[in-house]
Amino acid sequence: MTRKDRTEGILNRLEVLDSSEREQFYRIQLKDMLKYAYRYSEEVKKRFDRAQFNVNKFNDLSDIKHIPILKKKELIFLQSMGPRLGGLLTKDLGKMRRVFLSPGPIFDPEDRVNDYWGWTEGFYAAGFRSGDVVQNCFNYHLNPAGLMFEEPLRNLECAVVPSGPGSTNTQLEIMQKLRITGYVGTASYLKHLGQKAEDMGLDLRKDLFLEVAFVTAEKIPENVRNSLEKKFDIIMRQGYGTADVGCIGYECYHKNGLHLANKSFVEICHPDTGIPLKDGEIGEVVVTAFNKTYPLIRLATGDLSYIDRSPCPCGRTSPRLGGIIGRVDTTARIKGLFVYPHQMEQVISGFEEIKRWQLEVTNPGGIDEVTLYIESTEFHRHDDLQHSFREKIKIRPEIQVLEPGSLPAQIKEIEDKRSYD
Ligand SMILES: [Zn+2]
Repeated sequence: MTRKDRTEGILNRLEVLDSSEREQFYRIQLKDMLKYAYRYSEEVKKRFDRAQFNVNKFNDLSDIKHIPILKKKELIFLQSMGPRLGGLLTKDLGKMRRVFLSPGPIFDPEDRVNDYWGWTEGFYAAGFRSGDVVQNCFNYHLNPAGLMFEEPLRNLECAVVPSGPGSTNTQLEIMQKLRITGYVGTASYLKHLGQKAEDMGLDLRKDLFLEVAFVTAEKIPENVRNSLEKKFDIIMRQGYGTADVGCIGYECYHKNGLHLANKSFVEICHPDTGIPLKDGEIGEVVVTAFNKTYPLIRLATGDLSYIDRSPCPCGRTSPRLGGIIGRVDTTARIKGLFVYPHQMEQVISGFEEIKRWQLEVTNPGGIDEVTLYIESTEFHRHDDLQHSFREKIKIRPEIQVLEPGSLPAQIKEIEDKRSYD
């Protein structure tokens, strides 16, 4: 069977606007959304008034810097402050199509509009085409990932097997029997599937039929990507986004950074002051999605990156993020999930025999591994602790019990020792 061309073309004219058209597009979208949000979202009104930001005087893109940054931790707090997710929504919750829950905990509403999460152009850029049969290995339960990544596949007229994560043998059986051409999931899970298939004596290129993969939710070292692409004989491209705003950026065939999606305005800001930085300078990714239903304005993602405006051979003119370089605070993104120290404290407070603790994250072979060091004279509740971690934080650390006094006097609660070269 001949393969489809997955390397050329664009989906949307917005991907190739020249710089003045793009600036005008951002200005119109922002002005329209900010005015609407001020009028219909109680929380946005309060926020603008407090900052003495006059929405009618918004004329230039740089005017946005007068609106204070919205931190993810504030969002958790705001959402608990009454109806319409604390006044953030511009319509009633019952008007939504779905409401998800992601770690934080943060609720993520989804309105009844086409391409709500904005991933369709990114999936096209990654190489998905009409007629693909795609296995979606993201979770469909509570978390938005599964359904969020099904939306672009539906729009591109691909068939989807909503397999979710887990049951590796079944996944491989489906891949063979249905001749699956597309994979959507984490790179670590694809790596795991590949290892399992090879253990079973399968040839990844002959017994499986994968041609394209979309991966996200974790940082992938380039050598891991290259080896997976070679092993499966696939094109594997990454996307970047959050459960709050959906797609922020995506790679094209030329994999030289993340083209910014056309559904939001992205700034790179100083992590402490919120002041926008120049192209090429490293700072926090701050996103304003053109979303009138749930206007998260200048949402700080906590991720560090920089803007690259050099031309891309794919023809897309959208600026690119030069990859995600790290996290701003101690909050770590482990296996695609944000892990906050305060959540860990809550879990560990149920175990009074633990005196001190530290979570260490490493990535041998490109896969996140988590070790929880605890200081305790007597600890016999390994299973309970594992269970609480899995239930509340969705990670499964390896537990190492240490003698009291073993950890250094000054410790970071989450020690990130991952490297990405
Ligand atoms: Zn490109």
